[in-house]
Amino acid sequence: MRPARALIDLDALRHNYRLARERHGGQALAVVKANAYGHGAVRCARALAGEADGFAVACLEEALELRAAGIQAPILLLEGVFEAAELAEVARHQLWPVVHHAEQLRMLEQARPQSPFAVWLKINSGMNRAGFLPDDAQAAWQRLQACAAVGTITLMTHFARADEPHLLSTTEQIAAFDAATAGLPGPRSLANSAGVLGWPAAHRDWARPGILLYGADPMPDEANALRPVMTLESRIMALREIPPGAALGYGARFRAERPTRVGLVAMGYADGYPRSAPDGTPVSVDGRPTRLIGRVSMDMLTVDLTELPDAGLGSRVELWGNAVGVNRVAQCAGTIAYELLCNVKRVRFDYLGG
Ligand SMILES: *Cc1c(COP(=O)(O)O)cnc(C)c1O
Repeated sequence: MRPARALIDLDALRHNYRLARERHGGQALAVVKANAYGHGAVRCARALAGEADGFAVACLEEALELRAAGIQAPILLLEGVFEAAELAEVARHQLWPVVHHAEQLRMLEQARPQSPFAVWLKINSGMNRAGFLPDDAQAAWQRLQACAAVGTITLMTHFARADEPHLLSTTEQIAAFDAATAGLPGPRSLANSAGVLGWPAAHRDWARPGILLYGADPMPDEANALRPVMTLESRIMALREIPPGAALGYGARFRAERPTRVGLVAMGYADGYPRSAPDGTPVSVDGRPTRLIGRVSMDMLTVDLTELPDAGLGSRVELWGNAVGVNRVAQCAGTIAYELLCNVKRVRFDYLGG
């Protein structure tokens, strides 16, 4: 069997959830959209089911997958519904829709569910992606309040730059949100992962941690005691020595400067390892640090074993996990940990601590 696999540590997931909830206070929705950032939404939600106050997903389809798997906790739809017909399912499964634009408000005004929806009204406090403008927040709230189909209204916003602790941007967004919602009753939710870790002023009734649950710190310069959840690993499946001057792999990107011992690893961009990773990207072989050399291909990549004479056929290669932080690989590849984790596919998934 091909040895490429993602090892998912569910104890680490629970540890990170508890850390988020403790740091923030109040309640915390575990964000498990996009298949739990590539970790497996059903397995992750089940692992947290005993303790998570609820879950957040992008859309109805993702919520239905969790309900079908027996998840009974509240589930927030972060993008709300896309058409009025979805509201019947939202009601049937007691999901919580976000309302972030006028058309969704109109759908709710026309809905006649058996029991009212618990909605989350999203305010655009400066990111300018989704949500009602601050000037429209009070009117949107009044219209929701007047809806027969609406029960409790939670007020929320989302940060654009909470992972940049030295900037004023998040302070300004918090102030804009507070001004827009002044006097309105109901619970509040501001903090994503970076908000939980870096912005106490954003700690209100509900946190919405995502990436931190998976152990990738959005503020990597701070030591936040998160535990990586995914280890992406494989094994050395072939070895060769190449002489000085010899080229390695597609495009001959890497050229040996000295006799080089090359390990061939069963892992490629079709598994989600980034093709954009340059020579020198860290990898760990049998627990020892070394580097990627040569371009990543679809099913394989190559690593430098020159300094690791004990490594050989079958040696374990960690692409990211405890030895190689996914943030470091992301930085080398010019992307973010979110994208790397979401992209993992084809490999076998093994779960620990279920
Ligand atoms: C994805 C998302 C989150 C989680 O963000 P992280 O940076 O992964 O913590 C929180 N809130 C909203 C609205 C989101 O879309």
